[in-house]
Amino acid sequence: MKADGTIVARQLYKSFGSHEVLRGIDLSVKAGEISCIIGPSGSGKSTLLRCVNGLETVDRGVLRVNGEDFGYVEKGNAYHAVRPQRLAEQRARIGMVFQQFNLFPNMTAEDNVMSGPVLVKKISRKVAREQAQKLLAQVGLAGCGHKYPAQLSGGQQQRVAIARALAMEPSIMLFDEPTSALDPELVGEVLAVMRDLAHHGMTMLVVTHEMGFARDVADEVLFMDGGVAVERGDAREVLANPREKRTQEFLERVL
Ligand code: ADP
Ligand code: MG
Repeated sequence: MKADGTIVARQLYKSFGSHEVLRGIDLSVKAGEISCIIGPSGSGKSTLLRCVNGLETVDRGVLRVNGEDFGYVEKGNAYHAVRPQRLAEQRARIGMVFQQFNLFPNMTAEDNVMSGPVLVKKISRKVAREQAQKLLAQVGLAGCGHKYPAQLSGGQQQRVAIARALAMEPSIMLFDEPTSALDPELVGEVLAVMRDLAHHGMTMLVVTHEMGFARDVADEVLFMDGGVAVERGDAREVLANPREKRTQEFLERVL
């Protein structure tokens, strides 16, 4: 199966009970592009990311990730989910990093990073460990492989989480407010790793409140409010000259 590093969403709808959380979202991320999603709490950003990662199914709309359909509309109505085996294959090519690092607390950094390749890809422990050491070095944590999450700072833990996601050799990386749980002085080291990834051509969809990162690194910014994509466009353009009143008000609050 090809993994082309693209995300296409057209008119995505998602409800929890009677609460419509995504109300017709369009999104397009080309291979190697960085797209940032901004917007107030409760606007549906995490839900959108979880749909892109197959953690949630959408109710309606087209969602094509890595050139494969996660869901599609047939004859204008019913949503058809992909089969579980296919879904697992698709999900293995999408890395996700959460606000709360989500490392296994009882495993060392190295074991955290190698767990996916060993368990899912059935790679030998020796090869997986060598890869894990390389990845930890790539995120600036050479020599920290033997440490447990509790022995690492929040910024270090989040960098381990990034290395763990990269260990599965994803073609797309999703980040859900990766620096929101960090003390301010630790935000920069995580953003630096993300910038480095971006410069190496990784397709990235990033929910963030770091407007400086969005301005410097993103190709496109999507502003969500109330489950709707209020404004979408060139990152610097949207952040400097938002067209929509709701975007202007949000940016005035956060900048
Ligand atoms: P954001 O990430 O922008 O803060 P979320 O996608 O987390 O927004 O949530 C959007 C809305 O959907 C919120 O009102 C939230 O309470 C609701 N929601 C999210 N996940 C669930 C769920 N699993 N069940 C019910 N409601 C949910
Ligand atoms: Mg969220």
